[in-house]
Amino acid sequence: MLTPIDKRLFGLDDAALRTFSDDDGRQLLLDADALASFEQMKIAARRDGVQLNICSGFRDFSRQCLIWNNKASGKRPVLGADSQPVDINHFSDQQRLETLLLWSAIPAMSRHHWGTDVDLFDASAIGREQLQLINSEYQAGGPCYPMFHWLEQHATAFGFYRPFQQGLSGTSAELWHYSYFPTASRLQAQYDTEKLKQLLISSDVALKDVMLQQLEQLVITYVQTVAPAPSRVSL
Ligand SMILES: [Zn+2]
Repeated sequence: MLTPIDKRLFGLDDAALRTFSDDDGRQLLLDADALASFEQMKIAARRDGVQLNICSGFRDFSRQCLIWNNKASGKRPVLGADSQPVDINHFSDQQRLETLLLWSAIPAMSRHHWGTDVDLFDASAIGREQLQLINSEYQAGGPCYPMFHWLEQHATAFGFYRPFQQGLSGTSAELWHYSYFPTASRLQAQYDTEKLKQLLISSDVALKDVMLQQLEQLVITYVQTVAPAPSRVSL
């Protein structure tokens, strides 16, 4: 039996979230506290010439499942560690799983289910349609580098940080992904692998047989191993 917290962690319940419109009128869902803090951060960034915009906020289980299954079946491109497309057709299920996990989360294992996590870009520097969400866009010379630099200095004061960092997270470093840690850390601590197992067994997630053989380790690596959240926020 899934509790309301399990449902929230697995992207099956958005009751705790608020709807809002982004700069281009797109409707998004975010945790109420994360949204209030994001709005404050956005105003502060704007004063420094950075236009914070959300490429992706809340994503539910069925949406993540569609993305995952389309990648597993080759309907959607899969990128390797160097952000170049990889042909996974001749791969074993284990190799497919490992390759997809470089840049995608298993359904029910994405922080985007929580409403606390966002993929950000600088709308004054690049359009949503041009954005590829690759690290070079956020590094020196890339359109989102000024935003990245600004966030490195200021995001913590607004309760945001990067959970996916080189050497600190089980998943690849994602320079665009920020988490509202006052809420996300509390949710992460309540993640229940046994409940996840029940959900996956009854779902049509691609590659679930190979996942179920190593589920404890997958949760440790891809859910629990993230960069440590800052311990204190001075708002
Ligand atoms: Zn993300």
